[in-house]
Amino acid sequence: MLREKCAVFGVYGQGLSASRLAYFGLFALQHRGQESSGIVSADKGKLYIHKGMGLVPQIYQESDFKKLPGILAIGHNRYSTSLGSGLEHCQPVTDEEGILALAHNGNLPSVRKLRRFLLDKNIPIVGLNDSELMFQAIKYYLKSGSTLEEAIAVSYPMFTGVFSLLVMTKDKIAAVRDGCGVRPLAIGSMGKGFVFASETCALDAIGALFLREVKPGEMVVVDKKGLQSYQIVKGEQKLDIFEFVYFARLDSQLLGQSVYKVRQRSGELLATENPIEADVVIPVPESSIPVAIGFASKSGIPFEYGLSKNRYIGRTFILPDQNMRDRSVGLKLSPIPEVIKGKRVIIIDDSMVRGTTIKRIVKMIKNAGAEEVHVMISCPPVRFPDFYGIDTPHQSELIAAHKSVEQIKEFIGADSLHFLSVDNLIKATGLPKENFCTSCFTGEYPVNLGEKAKTITDVTMGVADL
Ligand code: 5GP
Ligand code: MG
Repeated sequence: MLREKCAVFGVYGQGLSASRLAYFGLFALQHRGQESSGIVSADKGKLYIHKGMGLVPQIYQESDFKKLPGILAIGHNRYSTSLGSGLEHCQPVTDEEGILALAHNGNLPSVRKLRRFLLDKNIPIVGLNDSELMFQAIKYYLKSGSTLEEAIAVSYPMFTGVFSLLVMTKDKIAAVRDGCGVRPLAIGSMGKGFVFASETCALDAIGALFLREVKPGEMVVVDKKGLQSYQIVKGEQKLDIFEFVYFARLDSQLLGQSVYKVRQRSGELLATENPIEADVVIPVPESSIPVAIGFASKSGIPFEYGLSKNRYIGRTFILPDQNMRDRSVGLKLSPIPEVIKGKRVIIIDDSMVRGTTIKRIVKMIKNAGAEEVHVMISCPPVRFPDFYGIDTPHQSELIAAHKSVEQIKEFIGADSLHFLSVDNLIKATGLPKENFCTSCFTGEYPVNLGEKAKTITDVTMGVADL
């Protein structure tokens, strides 16, 4: 099964150059996926596609947009680590018949129902991933004469898991979210047209106006008649709280809350939870900058930009093997000794997964002459695997799944180590805990995991010393 955290973007509107807008939207969503990107547009009854491996500006050239005509388009940035990182699984999903395109952010932990259904209909499924199986199911109903709305509504109960989907035919786009709304999906307006995007930052980038989010369990369809909403199942909002911690861009809004502000409040709460003495507080850029700003203002310890970041390197996780991941931290970050030497340093990072990044950073800061290094992490320990589309590795690779906080502190070579509590992380969002999926911290999975449930062990080790 592929693990993907991705970006989706769609646009429909008379007079709009849809593929160009999709390009700018995908560029604004580059942080959600840097492995490959694709755009499908529709014009005069035909679908047009352009996909490639790499970053958005590398994939699309001026001449490509001439081959992507039309007033509607959907696009996708793909993020994936180990499995199937070739062009063949690059999205949007399409096929030779050219009647349908689908872009998916999320993950279906169980594809049993889909497989059984497709096998039953004699549709070949060998080598297809979850997104491609969904595509085949919807296509089956379309070919049987259903409208796009009907095809999605009848296939929907077979989608066991997490999906923020954009589905396009020659003349309409449907935006669909799973009943828990685990991955984000926003709607914007642009002139008389409409835009869908994983995050609001992509709406701002093209000058679209944010309207609202697609609701959990809802399908929103845009075509020449305008926007229509269908509530396919009763939804219950369970946004993955990790969107606030790490994924989303600082200038995005989720559930009406600014990502920047939430991170800043996490920093204030980290400072309240851990009143320690130090000379300087330094963020691991980019995601932790507002956290460190909040921490500094609450604690009175001065904020300094003590780690310089090479902005032209992708997110560390993108590198598929441990050897490259180890090296990449040094390629990405370098310490500023003038800020660090002789100081008691607090270093803040957004999260710890395997512990690789922070271990390297602690060493880097000590080598630059720090007297003490205290590590603050602005989320709780990640103890449980993620099945919904974030790249958290197998549970055995999660450092907090098998080491206590004290043991992790020793492992990373820090003088102290503190994680933000679950309660304060939720408090930082300003929203009730019922609105969130916190599974990677708590092991409580709101979405049916199907056969994947068997792979989780209940880890309580280290909880006592939090
Ligand atoms: P670790 O080195 O502990 O395995 O990973 C932690 C680092 O990876 C943190 O600096 C954090 O910013 C980043 N990170 C956490 N979760 C993810 C993810 O799902 N994808 C990517 N690309 N990076 C992540
Ligand atoms: Mg990081």
